[in-house]
Formats: sequence, structure tokens, C-alpha cells
Amino acid sequence: FDTISILNVPFINTTNRAFLTQLEQDVLAHQNRFVVTANPEILMYAREHPDYQRVLHQADYITPDGIGVIQGAQILGTPLPERITGYDTLLSLLQWGAKHHQRLFLLGAKPAVLKQVVATLKATTPNLVLAGALDGYYDNEAAVVDQIVAAKPDMIFIATGFPKQEFFIAKYRHRVDALWMGVGGSFDVLAG
Ligand code: UDP
Repeated sequence: FDTISILNVPFINTTNRAFLTQLEQDVLAHQNRFVVTANPEILMYAREHPDYQRVLHQADYITPDGIGVIQGAQILGTPLPERITGYDTLLSLLQWGAKHHQRLFLLGAKPAVLKQVVATLKATTPNLVLAGALDGYYDNEAAVVDQIVAAKPDMIFIATGFPKQEFFIAKYRHRVDALWMGVGGSFDVLAG
């Protein structure tokens, strides 16, 4: 995709449909991919934290998550077609993944929330292959990474909030060739 820079962050200039098609191809080809869905809060944080800015620049795809980013692009005279949110992308990939037997790993949220998410997914999407799920309040990070590696996932969704999830992905993505995506508070929403 071509990109449009806002506050020195390059956003992919594409639609939800085209983005999903690209991600599906990447996952099937076992490409190592890092997705950031960036809202205005993330942009502000990156501006003040060069280490986080550097991590953002390691992402393969940064999407405009938040109407503020769409409005900013419009004002700068370089409009982006539409919002691409972490939550919508997660839901679409869960459905697609279930249909195509892709292995899924979930990391994040409080233990009770994660338990509810797993129960909801098993009920609503019976074909889903859940390779593993861990809550986001761990103290042994190395053990968490080992469990992710051992689960051989195709898609890893990390819901520990920014900037934690992006730092984690940048640090460990080389351990598994999969799709790694930070999804913020999405598990809380999924749990209902
Ligand atoms: N969280 C976590 N581990 C932590 C801190 C937060 O798993 O050490 C979870 C928290 O339970 C919530 C999510 O991360 O589910 C953060 O959601 P928030 O809406 O604050 O994140 P954002 O969407 O702003 O990145």
C-alpha cells in the first residue's frame, strides 16, 4: 500500500476490504507481519516518546483507527478513505481464520475477561482453532513468549493496551512467523 504520513506516522492508504485481503494472503503465506491500529492518542504518545515512534516505524501496516486520524488527513489535504479499527479487523480475521483453520493466539485483558472472551468465541464461532489464550497480567514475560511459540499460531492478537502491546510485538515477533496485531481494549468489548 502507499502511505500517508500524519505527524510522522505512515498510514496505509487503503480500504478495510483491501487490507483484509492483504492480511489473509500474508497469513496463508506465513509472512511475519506487525500491525498497528493507531488512534490520535497513539500519535500524541509517539510524538513524545521516540522509542515508541521507532517501534511504530517497524510495523508493516499502520491503520487509521479513530475518526481524528481521518479528519487530520482530510485537513492536511491527503485524505484517507476510511477508518480501519483494531476491533473490526479482529472480528473479520476471527471469522476468516475459523473458516480457513488458522491457529489463533490471544494475549491480554484481565483473567475473567479473557475467560469470557474464550467462552463467547467457542459459542459463536465453533470452528475457531484456539491455539492458546493468556491474560495480560503476567510477570514472567519469557514464559509467555515460550507459550506463544509452542502454540504455533498463525495469528497473534495482543490486547494489553498501547504502548505495551507494540513494545512486546517489536521485541518478540522474530520468534514466530505469524500475524502480530495489537488490539487494545478489544477483548473487553468482545467479553461484553
Ligand atoms: N491490559 C493488560 N495488561 C496490562 C495492562 C492492560 O492486559 O498490563 C489490558 C486491559 O485489561 C485492557 C487493555 O489492556 O483489556 C487496555 O485497554 P485500553 O482500552 O486501555 O487500551 P487502548 O485501546 O487504549 O490501547
